Amino acid sequence: MNTIAENIQQIIEQIHEFEQSYNRPEGSVTLLAVSKKQPIDKILQAHKAGIRDFGENYLQEAEEKISQLVDLDINWHFIGPIQSNKTRAIADLFQWVHSVDRLKIARRLSDQRNSLLPPLNVCIQVNLSGEETKSGISIDEVENLCNEVAKLPNLHLRGLMTIPAPTEDFTGQRQLFSALAVTFNNLVPRFPGFDTLSMGMSGDFKAAIAEGSTVVRIGTALFGPRM
Ligand SMILES: *Cc1c(COP(=O)(O)O)cnc(C)c1O
Repeated sequence: MNTIAENIQQIIEQIHEFEQSYNRPEGSVTLLAVSKKQPIDKILQAHKAGIRDFGENYLQEAEEKISQLVDLDINWHFIGPIQSNKTRAIADLFQWVHSVDRLKIARRLSDQRNSLLPPLNVCIQVNLSGEETKSGISIDEVENLCNEVAKLPNLHLRGLMTIPAPTEDFTGQRQLFSALAVTFNNLVPRFPGFDTLSMGMSGDFKAAIAEGSTVVRIGTALFGPRM
């Protein structure tokens, strides 16, 4: 079995290869290590190997890890579904939230973010596959929600995020990602610092990079199976 450091090196090489193949500028894609349901020890190994961005889905689990790793320079990204009673802790502990999908949650995050801290970076989560069970707003509601979120004082609207329904088919993966990229590119000139297209996971990050992703969120390919 590979070490975490070897996995990271391999993924970074693949990211660079895909950047080149699809005419993306070198270094335009950031690796976000998804450490949900992975032990602290693996986060430490990844940090030692140079990773600085980590994604967590479950608040309670994240609170424990963040408090234990408080001395490390880590950007914590919340990427899971958000219940309104969790917004205060999320606004306190994280630098990024990728999963904002309604105004009520955005307002609470802004109200509860300490205004002495830098604004909380947020992405709007978009549901491309139209599955009832998945979080995210539909693509035609994105612009409205962006307009409202951009007005909130303690948030910085940074871009869009999606988790498409899993499919093995590369062309199918690209089609969905492409739809989000079109919407994203239309919005870029409208909001200052709107520079983040968070799409691509272990099984589809090649297609995501081909379509303009700037952040790939990789869990199992980096850390192995979850606990
Ligand atoms: C779990 C998760 C990932 C990582 O998924 P892998 O398939 O393990 O790479 C990425 N994004 C979100 C939002 C997740 O919940």
